[in-house]
Amino acid sequence: MTDQTFEYTRQDASGASCTAHAWAKVPAPLTSDQRQALKARAAALLKERNAVLVAHYYVDGDLQDLALETGGIVADSLEMARFGRDHASQTLVVAGVRFMGESAKILSPGKTVLMPDLDATCSLDLGCPPDDFAAFCDAHPDRQVVVYANTSAAVKARADWMVTSSCALAIVRHLKDQGQKIIWAPDRHLGRYIQQETGADMLLWNGACIVHDEFKGTELELLKEEHPHAMVLVHPESPEAVVKLADVVGSTSQMLNAVVNGTATEYIVATDNLIMHRMRQLAPGKTLIEAPTAGNAASCKSCAHCPWMAMNALQGVIDCLESGSGEIHVEPDLGLEAKRCIDRMLDFVAANPSALAPKVQGLVRGIGAA
Ligand code: SF4
Repeated sequence: MTDQTFEYTRQDASGASCTAHAWAKVPAPLTSDQRQALKARAAALLKERNAVLVAHYYVDGDLQDLALETGGIVADSLEMARFGRDHASQTLVVAGVRFMGESAKILSPGKTVLMPDLDATCSLDLGCPPDDFAAFCDAHPDRQVVVYANTSAAVKARADWMVTSSCALAIVRHLKDQGQKIIWAPDRHLGRYIQQETGADMLLWNGACIVHDEFKGTELELLKEEHPHAMVLVHPESPEAVVKLADVVGSTSQMLNAVVNGTATEYIVATDNLIMHRMRQLAPGKTLIEAPTAGNAASCKSCAHCPWMAMNALQGVIDCLESGSGEIHVEPDLGLEAKRCIDRMLDFVAANPSALAPKVQGLVRGIGAA
């Protein structure tokens, strides 16, 4: 079995600290009255413009509530794109990060896709520049190219398969059974986890999520000692030392289902902490504990929240609906190329419903299937 890592250390293609830019754009906290007023204005605009709000689990709780109260959805990236594609509305407001807006546009090229802030991006997307990735793929033409959803349209256009964290294992197993060798990008932790679970021959791109990469194994062990009965839920974008301590390793939807359906009363959660907003709503009696990161220091900020997700705000929803700002454009030919690998995954999941963890399927309203 080949186990090679493609060394790629650059996080920000411009060389700048893009997370500092993101934190600087995160809106200041609002009073309760201000929040209610903005929420009412955003709800009225969604109705006026016949638009639907499609929000990720990691965005601000007010945005999650607004989505659910106005007929939209709170979900993971794949379910967001599918919901947007299947919804009658011709205008989608995507509260999340840019690749989610792009995926929505790729699956719904005829619709208008707006985002509260187009600068909201993702370290996995930034860490996988299309030209470098294409050169890497060209150097290994004998391999199937499997990319995670957290990539640009241009990277998807170069891929054979797109996967999300809840169907990645099944699709890689399927490829291995066919005797295929694989290029995996961009998340190295998720790639390593899948490689270990499947034994597939995978070349891994060296990207990482700046949020999940911050979770610490030693500190988590100490926290487990303080809460010996807590169930530990870990997203597989986390480092190996953290994944090893998990009771459940899974996607956002799978973690949510584990809390809702689990028998434990305490849960340690290793993913973006805003998923707890939805967990609290769906499992109000359970105690949720944030998995440990390095915390904040003078020169850096380590926390379980994504700065780009944090840029999404009620005012941004209002602004994009009022002015049409923040519109996502994907060049049509590129969109068609990128759509191939997404459709391949959707077809695989439709034909192999058992590819998804059984606990994910349809047990809780509003939880996506991938
Ligand atoms: S939480 Fe990580 S994977 Fe998700 S958008 Fe932020 S940087 Fe990307």
